[in-house]
Amino acid sequence: MGLAAAQRAVTLGHKVDLIEADGKLGGMAAHFDFSGLSIERFYHFVCKADGPTFALMRDLGISNKMRWVDTSMGYFTHGKTHKWGDPVSLLRYPHLSVIEKLRTGLQMFLATKASGFSRIEHLTAREWIERGSGKSVYQKLWRRLQELKFHEFADEVSASWIASRIKRIGNSRESILKAQLGYIEGGSETLIEAMADDIRRKGGRIYLNTPAERVVVKDGRVSLVQAGGTGFEAQAVISTVPIPLVNHLVPDLPQEWKDKYAAIRNIGVVCLVFKLRKSVTPHFWENIVAEDIDIPGLIEFSNLRPFADTIVYVPYYMPLTQPKWHWQDEQFIDEAFSYIRRVNPAIQPDDLMDARVSRLHHAQPVCEPHFRDKLPCVQTPIRGLQIADTCFYYPEDRGVAESIRYGRMMAEAVSRRLSGTVSHWTDADTGSEK
Ligand SMILES: Cc1cc2nc3c(=O)[nH]c(=O)nc-3n(C[C@H](O)[C@H](O)[C@H](O)COP(=O)(O)OP(=O)(O)OC[C@H]3O[C@@H](n4cnc5c(N)ncnc54)[C@H](O)[C@@H]3O)c2cc1C
Repeated sequence: MGLAAAQRAVTLGHKVDLIEADGKLGGMAAHFDFSGLSIERFYHFVCKADGPTFALMRDLGISNKMRWVDTSMGYFTHGKTHKWGDPVSLLRYPHLSVIEKLRTGLQMFLATKASGFSRIEHLTAREWIERGSGKSVYQKLWRRLQELKFHEFADEVSASWIASRIKRIGNSRESILKAQLGYIEGGSETLIEAMADDIRRKGGRIYLNTPAERVVVKDGRVSLVQAGGTGFEAQAVISTVPIPLVNHLVPDLPQEWKDKYAAIRNIGVVCLVFKLRKSVTPHFWENIVAEDIDIPGLIEFSNLRPFADTIVYVPYYMPLTQPKWHWQDEQFIDEAFSYIRRVNPAIQPDDLMDARVSRLHHAQPVCEPHFRDKLPCVQTPIRGLQIADTCFYYPEDRGVAESIRYGRMMAEAVSRRLSGTVSHWTDADTGSEK
């Protein structure tokens, strides 16, 4: 979001300083060196609905880097993987009755066709699924997945958030039977580096290893960002750091705003990536529902983006209050590898070539019903200061395309303000409903 905002602002003719705390650009989409392989710390795929990503890639002249692949989904339960994710697989699935299958199929189909989800905004995901597909379907298909991702918040997640996810992925299809997902050749880094190159080429400056420490406010408007021991003067500041960090960064915000930011909850993720000699599953995404397997699924990324070896990600989402958050990397690797071997018993210990663990404190906002009403406006009461993170595009789930869209909107709002096109900041400046 920050990169997209900076790229748009510099393109619109502004002088831009991009301040990044990490030693690498890209945030959640950043790469790392996995024993000689440059790959995302957290798996990333592209959906057909990701319009803002395609528009930006066109602007940057890298549209030719987009690749589309026929992918499939599996569902591991009762000791066996079943094909999943299309009507025929649903009809063949042995652990639901005919009525349960019909109700599930209809609810998923309607979600992919809906133009919006305001009608179900008051419901939790559980209530919506229980009403549409039935309580037994929630128990059989969804409960474990929700609990393993959201833990104590599992029953609080909103229906419109989950329906938006189903819609985004459900609509990434070539035909009713064939799902297609995309990747960028070279990974997310290709896009990140193209944005960074464009920013630099147009005169923007990028500072790595420079954590913003404080946004300084003078006479009700931003004047300076203190970061990495330096002061960056600014007429406008766009903050795209995770919302839980904002109150510390901007102590001058009114208490009412701080309370709103403090009420936004996030969970973390511990994400493992394995390099293996053998394939685990023919599917890109394998959901796992088994009471004695504590992961909601695994992602065989090399079934999307080809690599010399098999690449499998295993995400452990959890609130930081979970005792497991404090596990050592080796504990996670041992447990996750044992689960991989449960899914495919042909995998032997010596098939494990390498494994890495990445942790993120703020990986996923927890969005309850009517979440939008609880969000503060993007434009803060401090003139020149806009603040957003991935939860601002609720009910859409966090994703690269939406972060790009938001970053660009915020840059355009700054541009209109500084050029005097609007005399006051308005919500419309951000294109947001807030
Ligand atoms: C496991 C996982 C899988 C995902 N899979 C997909 C996927 O398949 N497809 C998809 O589209 N999206 C996916 N996403 C989501 C996607 O990565 C995010 O939506 C997107 O990258 C968010 O970008 P952002 O810039 O809004 O936020 P972030 O990436 O969180 O960026 C925030 C930035 O702020 C920086 N920062 C923090 N504090 C400071 C400070 N004090 N000063 C300066 N900088 C600071 C951080 O270092 C970071 O670079 C996934 C995310 C995760 C965690």
